[in-house]
Amino acid sequence: MIIGGGPAGAAAGVGLARRGLGVVIVEGKTFPRAKVCGEFVSPAATGVLESLLPPAALREAGARTVGRFVLEEGEREVWWEMPARAWVLSRRTLDDRLLGAARGAGCEVVQPATVRAVRWGPRVARVDIARAGGAVETLEADVVVHADGSGRHDSAGPTPVRAGVLGLKAHLRVPGGVAGLRMRSAARAYGGLVGVEGGAATAALVARRDVVARHGGDGDALLGEMWPAYRPEWREGGWMWCGVAGSGYIGPGNERSFRIGNAAAAVEPVGGEGIGLALWSGALLGEILDPGDLAGTQRAVARAYRSRLRTRGAACRVAAECLMRPRLMRGLWPLLGVSAVRGGVLGAFYALSGKPAA
Ligand SMILES: Cc1cc2nc3c(=O)[nH]c(=O)nc-3n(C[C@H](O)[C@H](O)[C@H](O)COP(=O)(O)OP(=O)(O)OC[C@H]3O[C@@H](n4cnc5c(N)ncnc54)[C@H](O)[C@@H]3O)c2cc1C
Repeated sequence: MIIGGGPAGAAAGVGLARRGLGVVIVEGKTFPRAKVCGEFVSPAATGVLESLLPPAALREAGARTVGRFVLEEGEREVWWEMPARAWVLSRRTLDDRLLGAARGAGCEVVQPATVRAVRWGPRVARVDIARAGGAVETLEADVVVHADGSGRHDSAGPTPVRAGVLGLKAHLRVPGGVAGLRMRSAARAYGGLVGVEGGAATAALVARRDVVARHGGDGDALLGEMWPAYRPEWREGGWMWCGVAGSGYIGPGNERSFRIGNAAAAVEPVGGEGIGLALWSGALLGEILDPGDLAGTQRAVARAYRSRLRTRGAACRVAAECLMRPRLMRGLWPLLGVSAVRGGVLGAFYALSGKPAA
């Protein structure tokens, strides 16, 4: 049983079902649904994403590719070429298509239905599931995969949320469109802007709570501070917000339990690595889960996670800390204009945060 049908759960479901294992995915929300996210998939995850949704299927869903990372400051900008093409697609569409791929691979998807509790026994786990009408039923599972973004029902406990930090997201209709992935820095906050399907653009912000409070909780005011050209009338729909998960790898709390995606470990959203880690960890578990050696599989997942996070986690953290310091960014600006330094910065970031396969 997989708790959560986001990128991690869907990727694991596809891998496990393709191997002929019986998989039930329980997803609490009706899809398509919106989610706080920058909606940019790191070029490090292009391979795993395309193994689940081939480029033709991504294009048919309206996904765009982005080739440039652009850092903006006031009216000036400096840019880097991505080391490989990177996909951009709203979470509304992406998660819906990924869950569709899991269904197509043979997973049973129970949706909308929320896991309320998991009780661990020596041979099976008993999982209480509340269906839309409120009826609760108990299903038995040999293995429970926590792909709920938080690991709430694993005995090791939930993924911590970074104290005092908030994530915000809104869709905009920017005149002339948005080219590339564009990042801006502000004091104790940073933001990203990228064009998604249907001519819309996603603005995602990460900010300390005091900064959000200073703007009276108004996402328009916060985005306007980072990006003076922004006009609130470009916004389509309201701002969504959530806490920002942050932690090193969290091992599962029971031998029948596996954690993937944000439930296992989260990184700063700055590099667009979160969806990539979710897809990678789901695909990994789908490939290596050995029902006859659960402890061995847990050790292998932990090893792979730790090695993947060792430099990725640090690279994303450093990038986020720099972006939250506009004075530092202004000081670095003349250096960033030098192409060799620029090449080195992005090269180092992707080498540390996950070089895409050639
Ligand atoms: C501001 C911000 C910007 C970001 N920008 C980016 C970006 O541009 N690129 C990027 O790669 N990453 C980004 N991220 C990170 C990214 O959103 C996450 O890393 C990613 O969503 C993790 O995927 P997941 O599958 O582990 O969990 P989720 O995407 O959280 O999916 C979990 C699923 O489980 C379901 N669920 C939860 N509890 C239950 C339950 N009890 N029963 C049944 N179902 C349940 C939920 O409904 C959900 O569908 C950003 C994050 C923030 C906060």
